Amino acid sequence: MEQPLEQPQVTVVGSSNVDITALMDRLPAPGETVLADSYQLTPGGKGANQALAAALAGARTEFIGAVGQDPNAQIALEQLDAAGVQLGRVARVPENTGVAIIQVDAGAENCIAVVPGANASVDAAAVKAAGELHGILVLQGEIPASGIGAAIDAAAERVVLNLAPVIELERRYLLAANPLVANEHEAALILAQLDGADQPVDEPEEAIAAKLLAHGIASVVITLGANGCLVAEGGTVQQLPAVKVKAVDTTGAGDAFTGALAARLAAGDTLVQAAGFAGKFAALTVQGHGAQASYPRSVDNL
Ligand code: AMP
Repeated sequence: MEQPLEQPQVTVVGSSNVDITALMDRLPAPGETVLADSYQLTPGGKGANQALAAALAGARTEFIGAVGQDPNAQIALEQLDAAGVQLGRVARVPENTGVAIIQVDAGAENCIAVVPGANASVDAAAVKAAGELHGILVLQGEIPASGIGAAIDAAAERVVLNLAPVIELERRYLLAANPLVANEHEAALILAQLDGADQPVDEPEEAIAAKLLAHGIASVVITLGANGCLVAEGGTVQQLPAVKVKAVDTTGAGDAFTGALAARLAAGDTLVQAAGFAGKFAALTVQGHGAQASYPRSVDNL
């Protein structure tokens, strides 16, 4: 008889995609066809990336989302499966698995179209149908807002909200984040949403973090690429420097950071300790190409 799975410490409700990346000398102009050198099909989507990072960082992890019945479904989930992420509540829906169609030129400039496909079905009804959510809940902005809201309503523990891309959420859901994880640009957009402003104001990140706390968010982490991150909670804001490394590809670094952060919070770290670990984990990922492919398979030395 199969053993029942142990309850996850981290549950990620979110997107999974296949990234179709074509490499070419230069990007085509509208109406033009260019010959590309090669292409790759790789698993992606912020939710799946974060679930993989959480699992590789040591947390028992469940991923809840949706894929289609097309061959891409298997590619989207294969790394998660290999890392032991629980996938029993990933829905198989009639829409195709989400894809990101990415063109990259010789100078690493890119042009991306994302087709949400199955991810668009992860709405309130789907999340409610999934049932109880266990452990720390991790969310991003690549599923419908109603799905994010329903997941927060069902959260068993703290909610790590990485609202990327920034979409409109009810105020009470923004305030449920603990922490809200965002880059500088996203943090300014979220502040504008809470302020009811049309445009984000151009302010230093410390000021943005402090204002997000003042709105009532319990904690905020603003990621700053090679400059590390800001951790804001309880009225204080502190900067943690990044690890100095030679970055070759930062795709998926923010997702690695968020997943690893959640894993360490689940293990009992303080937010500052967890962000320190997440920074080291993310610094390893920028030294390799791709998103999931660059995530470290062992964290013994971190
Ligand atoms: P980002 O989404 O670009 O802000 O990156 C997320 C996190 O990844 C940052 O907070 C850093 O911890 C890490 N990171 C990103 N880029 C670099 C880099 N060039 N060197 C070291 N760490 C990085």
